[in-house]
Amino acid sequence: MKPEVSEHAAPEDGVRRKSVVPVICYPVDGLAQPDISAYRKAREGWTKVEELLVPARDARCFSVPAGSFFRVVSVEGPQVGDLDLFSAIDPTERFYSGKTRALHGTHLSTGDRLWSSFPHFRPMATITEDTLDWYGFDAFGGSVHDVIGTRCDPYTHKLLSGDDYHHCCHSNLTRALAAHLKQPTDAVEHLVHDVLNVFMCTGFTRDTGQYFMKASPVRPGDFLEFFAEIDLVGALSACPGGDCGQEHSSDVAACHPLLIEIYRPAEQPVGWRTSEKSAYGRGHGL
Ligand SMILES: [Zn+2]
Repeated sequence: MKPEVSEHAAPEDGVRRKSVVPVICYPVDGLAQPDISAYRKAREGWTKVEELLVPARDARCFSVPAGSFFRVVSVEGPQVGDLDLFSAIDPTERFYSGKTRALHGTHLSTGDRLWSSFPHFRPMATITEDTLDWYGFDAFGGSVHDVIGTRCDPYTHKLLSGDDYHHCCHSNLTRALAAHLKQPTDAVEHLVHDVLNVFMCTGFTRDTGQYFMKASPVRPGDFLEFFAEIDLVGALSACPGGDCGQEHSSDVAACHPLLIEIYRPAEQPVGWRTSEKSAYGRGHGL
């Protein structure tokens, strides 16, 4: 355990050092901004081409062609979803939650993008509508749709409790991906990655910096909408934590399914092109 009182006295100029004003690590002013009004215009006359219900405490994969939209929709009751994204061409190109966090902050909303892993590193999807954007940050420092958590998993659960639990999001996503790729779970588990925690309300405690969760404010009818910038395979797990207000990695919490809706626009957004892989030449100084 970390000591409750620090072992070392502050130096003479400690107060001054602590008062240094922070700078943003990755200013995104120079990044090409998505034209949300063009995306929204493309929704006029769109066609819903698929609906898929993700059962509680389970996961499903779904395919979304570049240029189409998809929504994660709350149905029946408050429920958190753990979302993985893969390139449909190459599943080793995957959502990179850490770098997405570095670029867009701890919690995502409209206009933020989901970036892919190195060396590809390009927008996989853009968030085009978020019915929970009213929530902002609460008095505890909590907000929704985080990229700070990882996904509940049986390894951490075993470490902390000694028990085996087989319906953590990590296992759900592994089974869903194995079914989608028609491969055994052992062959695909390493492709499962840190998620976007859709609808989950999280933050870090102000005093100890610990990762916290609280009951999601999501209600049936709420949705998070994405535009696919490349051909995608999504994997969504309806977390065994339910609204994540109490506990996860068990069958205790009330859980609900989540609905995936996929929409094909009549015309693509004006000026839109599928995203390009990183232009870095990969010389790495050699
Ligand atoms: Zn989970």
